[in-house]
Amino acid sequence: MMKYSKQREIILNTLQKNVIHPTADQVYALLHKEYPTISLATVYRNLNQLAEMNVIRKITELNGSCRFDHNTHKHYHFICSKCNKVYDVPHECIPDLTTKVEAEIGVKVETCDVSFRGVCFDCINKN
Ligand SMILES: [Zn+2]
Ligand SMILES: [Zn+2]
Repeated sequence: MMKYSKQREIILNTLQKNVIHPTADQVYALLHKEYPTISLATVYRNLNQLAEMNVIRKITELNGSCRFDHNTHKHYHFICSKCNKVYDVPHECIPDLTTKVEAEIGVKVETCDVSFRGVCFDCINKN
């Protein structure tokens, strides 16, 4: 039986090496070849715990199952409607969004999930 902390480290490394914002199932599929003893439940549990610890970010605003992101810096997402790949949109593209929303409607923003949809560069070039 593999040590618990070791499992978490492997799962985190796999996520960091895959900048595609994978789902838990995708992380599991990537790990499975090399570490056949790690179960899907273990992958789910560790990803959720890492997200709770703010080591990674859990993205739930995109369509379908939730995805995991090793980039915890403030940024937004673009999802391709053709290949479903998720890209990072730098925070600088939409500056002061939170401040503007707070000023406009008088609320205190705690989290901000913005996602864009469209066709990615790769898919545009395929046509
Ligand atoms: Zn695409
Ligand atoms: Zn991201």
